[in-house]
Amino acid sequence: MSVLQNAARTPEGVAVNGFVLMPIVDKCEGCDRVREFDAEKFCSSYPAPERKWAEGRCNFATHVKGDAKAAAKVNPLKASKRAAKGR
Ligand code: SF4
Repeated sequence: MSVLQNAARTPEGVAVNGFVLMPIVDKCEGCDRVREFDAEKFCSSYPAPERKWAEGRCNFATHVKGDAKAAAKVNPLKASKRAAKGR
């Protein structure tokens, strides 16, 4: 994993160019934008990963595909009911 560029430890926390960064969240694990600094992990693209995920999938994430497929997935319970009806 790459090291966070231009990072510095400040009284407010780890900062890059004056912006204090929040650590990544669980959902960020595996993303190519995760950077390490001082044994903590941060996002190279967004200072507050938690907020990025609060509204659904992070749109910068490199490790998760769009959720269009998940939405199109057949609900197994409904599918079995449909199959039972057809019998
Ligand atoms: S780009 Fe999104 S998923 Fe990747 S580390 Fe940053 S906040 Fe997390």
